[in-house]
Amino acid sequence: MFDVIVIGAGPAGSTASKALVDKGLSVLMVEKFKMPRYKSCSGQLIKKTIDLVQEYYGKPVPEDTMCVPTENRGMIFTDDKGRVFRYEQEGLNVWRSSFDKWLADNAAQAGVEIRDNTAAISCEETEDGVSVTLKGERTYTEHAKYIIDCEGVVGTLKRKIMNATPKLIYTYQTYNQGSIDLDYHFFHAFLQPELSEYDAWFNVKDNQLVLGVSVKVKENAERFYAQFISYMEKEHHLRIEKQLKIDRWLMPWIQPGCKIDYGVGRVFFAGEVAGFLNPMGEGISAGMESGHCLAAAIVKHFGDQEKIYTDYKERTEALHNYMKRQWSFVGGMADTFAEMK
Ligand SMILES: Cc1cc2nc3c(=O)[nH]c(=O)nc-3n(C[C@H](O)[C@H](O)[C@H](O)COP(=O)(O)OP(=O)(O)OC[C@H]3O[C@@H](n4cnc5c(N)ncnc54)[C@H](O)[C@@H]3O)c2cc1C
Repeated sequence: MFDVIVIGAGPAGSTASKALVDKGLSVLMVEKFKMPRYKSCSGQLIKKTIDLVQEYYGKPVPEDTMCVPTENRGMIFTDDKGRVFRYEQEGLNVWRSSFDKWLADNAAQAGVEIRDNTAAISCEETEDGVSVTLKGERTYTEHAKYIIDCEGVVGTLKRKIMNATPKLIYTYQTYNQGSIDLDYHFFHAFLQPELSEYDAWFNVKDNQLVLGVSVKVKENAERFYAQFISYMEKEHHLRIEKQLKIDRWLMPWIQPGCKIDYGVGRVFFAGEVAGFLNPMGEGISAGMESGHCLAAAIVKHFGDQEKIYTDYKERTEALHNYMKRQWSFVGGMADTFAEMK
């Protein structure tokens, strides 16, 4: 019997796991893919993420997780009226596969047992804990006092537990060889409604030009992407020499009020599956912070489930309020986000 089983080795899962073993609890973390696993992401680490890595892991983000240009200098927004806003901030540019592997390796070094290629497929409360059915090379069951579900956007287990289907945003991005007249050191977001149903973006990873759109209706992705490419060719002299990769993914569709699902019974949620996500895809810091807060609440009130919930909510209150303010701010920038005002 483990004290806690953590599901998913993303930023939320690794951070929660490490924080638990640092305080003496026994932790199993399972990850459905082989590590290092791919995660669609712009990989922009804002200043807050860099600081959280130092605080939770006791060391800086390592250079071998970074890609060129390694330095991210902030975000440049174009709002729905075509007005440009520049937000400068110190940041980094990483490959998520390497960055997440490094977080998980640190959790393992601290004492977390990690099983990759292992998916949690169901769970059930027992008299003194919860049992989880895991599927790796074989299907078997493990037991723990609590589960921390950090399975990210798809949330298969959470859907089963809550018997609900989440609202999702569909992302479509391509990696390309080519040229453009935008500053590679910034993440560029475009909020014009003719370019996407949510947001469109440009960033650079190891000199590959990444261009993406997000939509509310999956079938609309390629049409908006084509419109975005035409716009970038006209306005920013985009020239694509060769398309290297197409990448489709999902994001939670954050609703007005930014509701958070903290958990059900002995299964707690952290990171994106709980609903922690800031606008323009800033989710790594929210994942890490919520995972850390939940671990601290479990350590403090191990035998008292209700107190864990209360403490987890209190510890994430500032993060939740910040999230609501950020979404409301974006709601004022573009009609596509008007419901968030
Ligand atoms: C296109 C795009 C661009 C983004 N850009 C940025 C950015 O630049 N900066 C930023 O901060 N955020 C960005 N985000 C958001 C960020 O990627 C997420 O918010 C963040 O990864 C959430 O962390 P997490 O730990 O909650 O989940 P994840 O990182 O998704 O990790 C969840 C893990 O759980 C595993 N898993 C799922 N189900 C199971 C299961 N049943 N059993 C076992 N394992 C399971 C998954 O394989 C995965 O490894 C972006 C997102 C997208 C889609």
